[in-house]
Amino acid sequence: MSVNPDSAVILVADDDPFIRHMLTSYLEREGYQVIEAPHGEAALDLYFYHLPDLVLLDALMPVVDGFEVCRRLQALTQGNLAPVLMITGLEDEKSVDQAFEIGVVDYVTKPINWAVLRQRVRRLILQHRLEIQLREANHRLQKLTMIDSLTQVANRRRFDEYLLQEWGRGVRESLPLSLVICDIDNFKNYNDHYGHQAGDRCLQEVAKTLNQCISRPADLVTRYGGEEFAVILPNTTMEGATTVSQRLVQGIQQRELPHDTAPQAIVTVSCGVANVLPMADYLPSDLVFTADQALYQAKAQGRNQYQAIYVMPPAAKQSMPPGAASAMPILRSLWPEA
Ligand code: GH3
Ligand code: MG
Ligand code: MG
Repeated sequence: MSVNPDSAVILVADDDPFIRHMLTSYLEREGYQVIEAPHGEAALDLYFYHLPDLVLLDALMPVVDGFEVCRRLQALTQGNLAPVLMITGLEDEKSVDQAFEIGVVDYVTKPINWAVLRQRVRRLILQHRLEIQLREANHRLQKLTMIDSLTQVANRRRFDEYLLQEWGRGVRESLPLSLVICDIDNFKNYNDHYGHQAGDRCLQEVAKTLNQCISRPADLVTRYGGEEFAVILPNTTMEGATTVSQRLVQGIQQRELPHDTAPQAIVTVSCGVANVLPMADYLPSDLVFTADQALYQAKAQGRNQYQAIYVMPPAAKQSMPPGAASAMPILRSLWPEA
């Protein structure tokens, strides 16, 4: 990869107008775009305005010197600082050590050797760009490890991570959390009848449809395993979660995917819904366990439907208003009777 100077921006910070002018005209002749800062404070402001590919920093400047500029930039960019090349008349051991300690990646001494400067500038910009590319590639890779390759929805690893994250947020901010587990009905028959490849295509269609049925950016459809999908609904009450579950069940039903060996001759799903106000004395697995119990009930009651169960402590259960239990499809505490 070669450096295309046309697109590279260099911030030159030096209080000496003559040196600044020399540096700017030299670098512009090389094809770089140059931003000039006459003192340290201007360097800090201009860095964040232009986000340069490289900073050429004079060590000795009045008020805020080059060392302080570099220290502040490091702190403010949290390790994502463009390379800083220090230009200094100071060659004593202490100054050189100090420069490298605060994160200067290289330095050149005055009077400037232009051939050396030219090479260092090229190398540092190239290196910085490669580092950015590597970071972006790692980020993309990281995202890929979170996606189920068959259905393209989030995978089980992402499910575990996201549930834990939203559980923590729920505890900190006292926000309800809901979970829906959707299982395709009679899917073994589907595979037996249409073949495994058709089964895979059906899983893709179901995943796509479930995804279309959720609306909030924080909602997440994941492939929990096999023909089971789990939908995490942060900051969602039981009422909201049952509304979503109804949409999920109806959404799949309305797709009318043929399933000759199922009672209604189309693909359907059953959903188990659980809701909790996360607290430090519960575990996320309590929510999964409860959603699983609700799913079991949905299957037992004839499939193609959802059932819902609250996760709640006995104390909360006792304080529920009379008749509240009939307001929901099923309100049942999994906690042993007190
Ligand atoms: P129920 O209505 O009670 O859920 O019955 P079911 O037949 O759907 O449930 P069961 O657990 O008996 O069977 C699940 C089937 O899902 C069996 C398995 O072959 C199929 N399955 C799981 N993962 C995949 C997959 O990745 N691709 C395909 N094609 N089939 C899968
Ligand atoms: Mg299953
Ligand atoms: Mg099933």
